[in-house]
Amino acid sequence: MTADLLDVLVVGGGPVGLATAIEARLRGLTVTVVEPRHSAGADGGAAGSAIDKACGEGLMPGALPALARLGVDPPGFALRGVSYRSLNSRGVETRVDHRFASGEGRGVRRTALHDALAERARSLGVDVVGGKVDALEQDATSVTAAGIRARYLVAADGLHSTVRRLTGLERPVAARGRRYGVRRHFRADPQTDLIEVYWTPTVEAYVTPVGDGVVGIAMLGRKGLDFDAALAGIRPLAALVAGAEPASELRGAGPFRQSTTRRSVGRVLLVGDASGYVDAITGEGIRVGLAQAEAAIDCIARDDPAGYERAWKQRTRDFRVLTAGLVAAANSPLRAAIVPAASALPRVFGAVVERLAR
Ligand SMILES: Cc1cc2nc3c(=O)[nH]c(=O)nc-3n(C[C@H](O)[C@H](O)[C@H](O)COP(=O)(O)OP(=O)(O)OC[C@H]3O[C@@H](n4cnc5c(N)ncnc54)[C@H](O)[C@@H]3O)c2cc1C
Repeated sequence: MTADLLDVLVVGGGPVGLATAIEARLRGLTVTVVEPRHSAGADGGAAGSAIDKACGEGLMPGALPALARLGVDPPGFALRGVSYRSLNSRGVETRVDHRFASGEGRGVRRTALHDALAERARSLGVDVVGGKVDALEQDATSVTAAGIRARYLVAADGLHSTVRRLTGLERPVAARGRRYGVRRHFRADPQTDLIEVYWTPTVEAYVTPVGDGVVGIAMLGRKGLDFDAALAGIRPLAALVAGAEPASELRGAGPFRQSTTRRSVGRVLLVGDASGYVDAITGEGIRVGLAQAEAAIDCIARDDPAGYERAWKQRTRDFRVLTAGLVAAANSPLRAAIVPAASALPRVFGAVVERLAR
């Protein structure tokens, strides 16, 4: 817009940062992404080696039209619903299945999602540079970080956002009840087209096929959760991976809960996990992050950064309320009753899944 000043500097080239950059280009804004793990492609553009991250890799149905709007259609495995399962001490299974009424979801390897977003960003002329933001300055008309000056800065630098801390938007979170996630992939044929979630007394194990005969298993639980021990204790999963070749290294992330006092200050806006995160228990991070990216760029395009706060609250409300409620139940003595209750009330379970799937 202003001839010699970049419109948007995006900090972080994960899925939400790249989606933000694509949104900006679709609005005709100039944009540069700064990402420490970036290695430039042959043409120096946004291609380069794909960024991996610990993730359950289940895209809920609402994420696919949001990606399609951006011109992104990542390859993966069609997911048609969610199945909650638990085993009692005698190995008897309780389960409840809900098939999405709102369309298909998709299991997508993070590297495949990164490739698809990076390729689309490159085709739209997004500039990605290697670098890590560790300081920023803003005045009435611009923000400067990593030696780049722009009219606006959108921080998509993840769960442990540096920008959130630098701008004083971070709200400390109690250490009690902190939860983490660990994932690994195996070469195995999918057993179902549902996202299976096994509830044990200490972990939730998510099984998500991602295509090409690869299945991801993500475990969520308390600090120090032992992936292999938990896997061995869940008989159907132990059988699934018996003799299967691992297709990735163990990778973890957390603590999940990250909070913010507000989502913008001056010309800096927070999106994705950087803007605050509840938990991976509902598999919602990407869908919610895409909605935040759209809202942030909409506000920037209208020169109304302050309007982002309202849009952020509106677009994240269901995720915050339902995810926090489920985490509270999972951390309480009610934990053992979650799958039996969902199984006894399949319509309620289905309604909650549909709400999150939108
Ligand atoms: C175990 C687990 C399971 C999950 N399962 C699911 C699921 O099934 N479905 C789903 O939708 N979501 C899931 N999530 C959540 C999802 O992974 C996140 O919500 C999503 O990755 C958020 O994307 P993001 O771009 O905001 O952050 P990230 O993906 O974390 O990307 C942040 C980027 O910022 C960069 N960066 C960091 N610091 C700086 C800096 N100082 N300067 C510049 N760049 C920086 C990083 O290198 C990184 O590339 C899961 C998460 C976990 C941990």
